[in-house]
Amino acid sequence: MLTCDPTLMPDPRPLLVRDPRFRAHTSPEGHPERAERLEAIDRALAPLLEQVLEVAPRAASDDEILRAHSAEHLALLQKLEGQTTQLDPDTYISPRSHEVARLAAGSAVELALRVARGEARSGFALTRPPGHHAERARAMGFCLLNNVAVAAQALRAEAGLERIAIVDWDVHHGNGTQHLFEHERDVLFVSLHQFPFYPGTGALRERGSGAGEGATLNLPLPAGCGDAEYAAAFEQIVIPTLREFRPELLLISAGFDAHARDPLASMQVSSDGFRVLAGMLRALAEEVCAGRMLLTLEGGYDLEALGESVAGVVRLLAEPELRPEKLPALTPVGSELIGGLREAHAQSWSSLRGRAYA
Ligand SMILES: [Zn+2]
Repeated sequence: MLTCDPTLMPDPRPLLVRDPRFRAHTSPEGHPERAERLEAIDRALAPLLEQVLEVAPRAASDDEILRAHSAEHLALLQKLEGQTTQLDPDTYISPRSHEVARLAAGSAVELALRVARGEARSGFALTRPPGHHAERARAMGFCLLNNVAVAAQALRAEAGLERIAIVDWDVHHGNGTQHLFEHERDVLFVSLHQFPFYPGTGALRERGSGAGEGATLNLPLPAGCGDAEYAAAFEQIVIPTLREFRPELLLISAGFDAHARDPLASMQVSSDGFRVLAGMLRALAEEVCAGRMLLTLEGGYDLEALGESVAGVVRLLAEPELRPEKLPALTPVGSELIGGLREAHAQSWSSLRGRAYA
């Protein structure tokens, strides 16, 4: 059960980790996952800083990392400290990458534990490198350590949480996170992603296995989906499933590369759209887990779109009275798409059976 001090009133301000050290992991010129991403976020957040509570980053311990990664993987990152090299065709190591990756994972843990203990309702770890492609035993797709998975494991081991949901709205499938939890029934993993697309996983038929069957919920979406399709997928599939699962805390792998202006992908989500999606998750978190939610930054490669979208989400977290507007209605084609996905997952989730309410 959740060990939370009932006398503690949560701080209404969202907790934020942001720190210049996260710019010290570097990639070659022209690489989209670059330090300038955090500078763009800082610029966009400047008018909001009085509404947030900043928390200093801290390094994840070996124990915290080893709950999600192999000893060999951690040893490799340590061994490469001080070097510049490449771990896969697009994943780079710079001299301080080990230190920065540890800080990113540790910051996600720190914010998650603070939210679980009732110090605040929500948090956003504005860190890099991102994490959701990192597998137990290897770095992949710009990711060195799987920040959201390390945080989920810490919540179970250190805060006594039993049921955690991870919603991954990054435009790429969160293969690393799925693989770490797909055999378990108490960690629900929900991913919306462009498909077919990098990294190739995330098909509808990947639904978890053994005790975890059904607790992996993939929503592969064709290129071109935007606010209407994402909002309908949330309203008709993600939210009812989360309500049925009843997590004790909601983790969000928040990538912003489904944005219409993102150079890597082909989706059409707007900056306002991300705020609406976050608002839907916040309303659900208020309903089932006292509003406890934590976002960790994944992708998002158009600097201006990234800054705008992150600032919109932070503003939503900081202003409880802000209730986002409705998004555009679905086209008939979109309606058929979302209806089909809902039907495909109905075998595992009774709340998805029957007609959608929207
Ligand atoms: Zn991505």
